[in-house]
Amino acid sequence: MTVGVSILWLRRDLRLHDHPALVAAVDSGEEVLPVFVRDPVLTASGGVRVQRLGASLAALSDATGGALVMRGGDPADVLPELASEVGATTVHVTRETTPYGRRRDARVRDALVADGRALVATGTPYAVGPGIVRTRAGAPYQVFTPYSQAWRAHGWPAPAAAPGRVRWATGVDGDPVLDGTRPGGVATSGAGERAALERWEGFLADGLERYAIERDRPDLDTTSRMSVHLTYGEIHPRTMLADLARHPCPSSAGVQRLTTELAWREFHADVLWQHPGSAWRDLRTTLTALPYDEGPVTGELVERWRQGRTGYPFVDAGMRQLLAEGWMHNRLRMVTASFLVKDLHVWWPTGARHFLDHLLDGDIASNSHGWQWVAGTGTDASPWFRIFNPVDQGKRFDPAGDYIRRWVPELAHLDGPAAHEPWRHPDGYAHGYPERIVDHAEERRESLARYERARQEK
Ligand code: FAD
Repeated sequence: MTVGVSILWLRRDLRLHDHPALVAAVDSGEEVLPVFVRDPVLTASGGVRVQRLGASLAALSDATGGALVMRGGDPADVLPELASEVGATTVHVTRETTPYGRRRDARVRDALVADGRALVATGTPYAVGPGIVRTRAGAPYQVFTPYSQAWRAHGWPAPAAAPGRVRWATGVDGDPVLDGTRPGGVATSGAGERAALERWEGFLADGLERYAIERDRPDLDTTSRMSVHLTYGEIHPRTMLADLARHPCPSSAGVQRLTTELAWREFHADVLWQHPGSAWRDLRTTLTALPYDEGPVTGELVERWRQGRTGYPFVDAGMRQLLAEGWMHNRLRMVTASFLVKDLHVWWPTGARHFLDHLLDGDIASNSHGWQWVAGTGTDASPWFRIFNPVDQGKRFDPAGDYIRRWVPELAHLDGPAAHEPWRHPDGYAHGYPERIVDHAEERRESLARYERARQEK
């Protein structure tokens, strides 16, 4: 008897464990052809992410014994063609929830259906799929704390059972997996499901306890660094939540804190699902009258921000970490975003674009809504007065100045917290560190005045 073929179209789910769509494909009784479509819309930006993607795909290709097939082009053309080539009637996917992913999948579904085939979506990249957690009245949540309470009360299924032996379909032509990407370097190290599970297990064993107390300290590197693995779906958040629930002390501060952080990821995905337009526009319209600066002078200031040369050491250290590592500590994401929006008076999408271009964990939901949370245009109820002081934040969360000296070599000669305030030391600028591009106290006053006027005009 000839066995048919089911296609497993992989996107943000580059793993084999806890993979409901893979289980569905295997349960069909057919051979499974794993496919990744290099969609030019997605690979045109975020060069580091494209490189990281290549490394993750290479790891997945190894895990499938080389069965993974790469094809390039518009998925709405590539998949019907491939399905026809291998005689597949079904394409299995993990349900996509981003605005572009939803539009693209609708087009692919239509193209397959027109050919008498089906797109079958099983599971999502989240513990609870966006659009599911609702208020009693059936409305979506707009604020994080009640959402996270309802999300925990809703609960999530156990990780998907291992699919047993997968019969991979082989002998199908494709492009080389690493075509166009360079292996090695910071963007590609530690990629793949095995690396994700090892990192997670190491963090559970050695990092969780410190996490609750020290997660805000960029100098100590105490967070899980799981965001990059989650972005490519090398691990499913449900696997992480199941491990946290099995922890010997499930009510410990570390377990509770990490669960809450994962809830933030789910909340942002839910908000974007409800409001697809909020990917690049203000979610709340209360501040639409707020004037932002633009033009050549502002453009130069923005460039200084991008390069980590604002003259504010904590901001600059964060921006340089982003360029060097493709990752930035959450505290710094908040402080640098606040600096762009509230000290330079620049609309948040400019910064969100820069982050997405350089973050290995760049994620449209968490990035745009992280930015909007800081900018005061997002889900937080009354954040307009929250303006991070870049010097106080640095002294508080990097008390010995170690994080500054790690990323800003021009300040390495200043001992301890002195690195946060070179202007207070006679030799502070001896090694070429730039003067401050704006006066924070003055820009803070200006920001508050603009916000107040915009609120009154609304
Ligand atoms: P941990 O502290 O170890 O947290 C564990 C996991 O919880 C993370 O991997 C992440 O999946 C989730 N998480 C933690 N904090 C948040 C948060 N505030 N919002 C959403 N999820 C969270 N996160 C991204 O994954 N991609 C982005 O593009 C992104 N852009 C951001 C932009 C701004 C302006 C801000 C303020 C935050 C952004 N975040 C983003 C959220 C957060 O900064 C990162 O998830 C976190 O720093 C990743 O490091 P970690 O894995 O060590 O985090």
